[in-house]
Amino acid sequence: MRIAKDAVVTFNYVVSTEGKEVDRSDPANPLIYIHGRSQMVAGLEERIEGSEAGSHHEFSVPPEKGYGVFDQDLEVGVPVDAFPEQFRERIMPGFRFQAEHPSKDGQMVVFTVSSVDDGKARASGNHPMAGKTLSFVVDVVAVREATAEELEHGHIHGGVGCGMRDGSCSGDHCSRDGDDAHGHDHH
Ligand SMILES: [Zn+2]
Repeated sequence: MRIAKDAVVTFNYVVSTEGKEVDRSDPANPLIYIHGRSQMVAGLEERIEGSEAGSHHEFSVPPEKGYGVFDQDLEVGVPVDAFPEQFRERIMPGFRFQAEHPSKDGQMVVFTVSSVDDGKARASGNHPMAGKTLSFVVDVVAVREATAEELEHGHIHGGVGCGMRDGSCSGDHCSRDGDDAHGHDHH
């Protein structure tokens, strides 16, 4: 079958930016997702739609269809004192917090602290790949229909329970046990 909305797609990929490889899948454990639900960056889903198992694709994805454009407003400096007292000791590189976008009312953004100097934390709300054009090499391994249950849960079931084939699951609502009966509650 061809890749269309709600198809379960298995693929391998290599992604590079500015001529440097940044990530690749392990061919022994390719990526699996449900197409058309924004589980992959938009530019990738668009480019492989309509193709079949065995197809090979090389293409680039602009930031707007990748991890977003770089937003200078999301590079912020925050005095450590501005955080609630119970968090202050934990403000260090890698600390994440949610706050409203500095120039877009009501839009919540997750910021990651990059450095702390003189009582001031530098933090970024940009995705590390924001502003980058992504070069993809994609090999589609398999395409199949999703089951009704997979569509309802919004993720694939790989034979060892919920989530990916190793039994782990990235869904918040899924237990990490990967029980065969798939008996966890979904909301
Ligand atoms: Zn599930």
